[in-house]
Amino acid sequence: MVILDMAVRVDPAIRVLTLDTGRLPEQTYRMIESVRERYGIVVETVSPDGGEVERMMAEHGPNLFYRDIASRMLCCQIRKVRPLERKLREFQAYLVGLRRDQNETRATLEQIDYDAVPVKVAPLAEWTSAQVEAYTRDNDVPVHPLYAAGYSSIGCEPCTRAIAAGEEERAGRWWWEEGADKECGLHFTPDGRAQRKVDVMLEEVLAGGRG
Ligand code: SF4
Repeated sequence: MVILDMAVRVDPAIRVLTLDTGRLPEQTYRMIESVRERYGIVVETVSPDGGEVERMMAEHGPNLFYRDIASRMLCCQIRKVRPLERKLREFQAYLVGLRRDQNETRATLEQIDYDAVPVKVAPLAEWTSAQVEAYTRDNDVPVHPLYAAGYSSIGCEPCTRAIAAGEEERAGRWWWEEGADKECGLHFTPDGRAQRKVDVMLEEVLAGGRG
């Protein structure tokens, strides 16, 4: 939200995207309404391919993410990664809100990733959570209602929960997994073995659509 607030001041016509995975909490839709009203902007919704979701759910069930890490990553591929990749073909560069202090995976995050296609810019890479809070307070930026309920990172409803004091920012994501990166493949690629297993499952889901 900090980036959105800054960007709209620079260019009110900037394009704003949100990923609607189909599993978001109701509070997120209320947040989108708040953003639309506050800034008077269009929020473009990026949705997964309906056929891919149907085939994944037929093959693996609606709550496959609880089964194992590969199944969870398959769900993230279908509901997040693939739709965003499709949408980003329209852009030469995009801004993301990632910060290095969010978790270990993000510790070496580059502010501008020129190798990414399109170029990925993380203006807040060096910001701390305290700086984000201060900017939000000082500029009266809309705040997602779940932060008041103890959430520190908000994603899909079944995969996110509030955290306890002292836990790292993304500890509430996929809380049932042990020893796994708290990432979904949107910004960081899983290790080779996990990626290969996900690739095979994904191929099967996509092949089901051609049969
Ligand atoms: S966060 Fe959970 S529900 Fe959302 S896409 Fe990933 S696995 Fe699926």
